[in-house]
Amino acid sequence: MIDDSEVQALRQQLRGTLLQPADAGYDAARTLFNAMIDKRPRLIAQCANVADVMTCVRFARQHGLLLAVRGGGHNGGGLGSCDDGLVIDLGRLRGIRVDPAAHTVRAEGGCTWGDVDHATHAFGLATPSGVISTTGVGGLTLGGGIGYLSRRFGLTIDNLLSVDMVLADGRFVTASASVNEDLFWAVRGGGGNFGVVTSFEFRLHALSSVVAGPTLWPLERAAEVMRWYRDFLPKAPPELNGFFAFITVPPAPPFPPALHLQKMCGIVWCYAGDAVRAEAALAPVRAMKPALDGLASMPYPMLQGAFDGLYTPGLQWYWRADFVNELSDEAIALHVEHGSRTPTLHSSMHLYPIDAAVHRVGRRETAFAWRDARWAAVFIGVSPDPAQRDQIATWCKDYWSALHPHSAGGAYVNFMMDEGQERVQASYRDNHARLASIKAKFDPGNLFRVNQNIRPAA
Ligand SMILES: Cc1cc2nc3c(=O)[nH]c(=O)nc-3n(C[C@H](O)[C@H](O)[C@H](O)COP(=O)(O)OP(=O)(O)OC[C@H]3O[C@@H](n4cnc5c(N)ncnc54)[C@H](O)[C@@H]3O)c2cc1C
Repeated sequence: MIDDSEVQALRQQLRGTLLQPADAGYDAARTLFNAMIDKRPRLIAQCANVADVMTCVRFARQHGLLLAVRGGGHNGGGLGSCDDGLVIDLGRLRGIRVDPAAHTVRAEGGCTWGDVDHATHAFGLATPSGVISTTGVGGLTLGGGIGYLSRRFGLTIDNLLSVDMVLADGRFVTASASVNEDLFWAVRGGGGNFGVVTSFEFRLHALSSVVAGPTLWPLERAAEVMRWYRDFLPKAPPELNGFFAFITVPPAPPFPPALHLQKMCGIVWCYAGDAVRAEAALAPVRAMKPALDGLASMPYPMLQGAFDGLYTPGLQWYWRADFVNELSDEAIALHVEHGSRTPTLHSSMHLYPIDAAVHRVGRRETAFAWRDARWAAVFIGVSPDPAQRDQIATWCKDYWSALHPHSAGGAYVNFMMDEGQERVQASYRDNHARLASIKAKFDPGNLFRVNQNIRPAA
C-alpha cells in the first residue's frame, strides 16, 4: 500500500507524468489495444527518460507494488498493464538513431515498428519485424519477432545487436554478445522477464521496395491451395515469404466489390529481393490461378502498414497459437472446416513461416526454442462488438483444440493469452531451465512477472 505523500514524492522525481485514477488522461493512458482487457493500474508513469524508468523500478520494488511494463500496448493478453500496480509506460521513449554507415539502428523502448520503418526506410534499410506497423518494438522483439522478412533475415531477435536495460534492482546495464552474454541470450525470446529494455540496437539490411500483396482463392479451393502452399513454400528461395490465411474480404478498396465480404483463403506474399527475380519466384503462385492477384511492387513500409486500417485499436481480441512442424492432409481438412467458419470480418487464422533463415540459428543459441518448427499458427477471434466476445473466443478455442493435436507442442509466446505455466514451459522447451536460472540471477524476487512468466529457479 502507498500513501499520497509517497506518490507525491515519486511524482517529483520524474520528468514524465504520473497518473492516478482520478487524473485527467488516466482512462486514455490505461486503454490497451485489445479492448477485451480492462485493467485499472494504481499508477501509470509515462516515463520521459531512462532515469524515470530506474526511479519507477526502484519505487515498485521498495513498495511491493505489482509492476507492469508497457511498450506498444499490443499484447493480446494485456500484459502491458496490471490491476492496482504501477505501469511503466515507455510510450514517450521514441528516439531513433540510424547509422547508415554501420547499417544499424538504435530504437528506444517505446517505439512502434512504424516508427522504426519510417526512420530506416529513408536510408533504404530495414530490419525484420512483424506484419503490422502499430505493434511495439519492445514486446515483439523480446518474444522473438516473426514477420515478412523472417525467411530472408531471420527473426527480429536474430538481428538484435544489443539492449540497454534497467534491472530489477534499478541498475542500468547493456547486454550484447560481448557483455552480460547470459542476459542477452535470455532477452532474445524470453520476453519482458529480465528487466525494462530502454533501447534496442538492430542490424539493418539493404531493402527499400518489395513485391508484395495478397493472392486470394475461393474457399472451395482451400484444401488444394493449402496443400500446394505446404509443398511449395519450404522449397522457395528465402527472399520469398508468404503467410496463409482464412479471411473475409474487407468491403473496401483495393478489393474489387465482387469479392467484398466473401469468405476466402489467401496468402499474403512478400518478396524481399531483386524485382526481376520476384517474377520468377512468384510464377508458381500465378500458375495456381488466384481469383485475386494483388501482387505489386511497393515500398516496404507500405506493406508493413497494409493491415493497420483493418486492425485498429479498440477491437475485442481473443487468440490462441501453436507451432507446427507438419501440415498433414488431416490437419488441412480440419483447417478448412474451422477456417471456413470465421465468425466475424476481422477473425482469421494465420500460418507464418519460420523456416529458411530462422532455421539457420540453433535452438539453444537464443531463448527462442522452436527453431525446428516450420510455421507459427495463430487463431484470431476479433470483433469491434463486445457482445461478440464469447462467440469469437469459442470459435477460436474450438479451432485451436481441433488443430492442437497436430501441432509441435509449444506456442509463440507473443501469440498467447494468459494460459498458465505449462504452456510457458512448453514454449521454451529445454531452454526453460536456463531461463529460470538467469531469471534467478537478475530478478530473484520476480519483480517482472506481468508477462509470460519465467519463475526464478529456486
Ligand atoms: C494486430 C497485431 C499484430 C501482430 N503481429 C505480429 C507479428 O506480425 N509478428 C509478431 O511476432 N508478433 C505480432 N503480434 C504480437 C505482438 O508481438 C505481441 O502482442 C507483443 O506482445 C506486442 O508488443 P507491445 O510492446 O506492443 O506490447 P505490450 O502490451 O506493451 O507488451 C507486451 C509484453 O512485453 C513487455 N514489454 C514491452 N516492451 C518492453 C520493454 N521495452 N522492456 C521490457 N518489457 C517490455 C511487456 O511488459 C509485456 O509483458 C501482433 C499483435 C497484434 C495485436
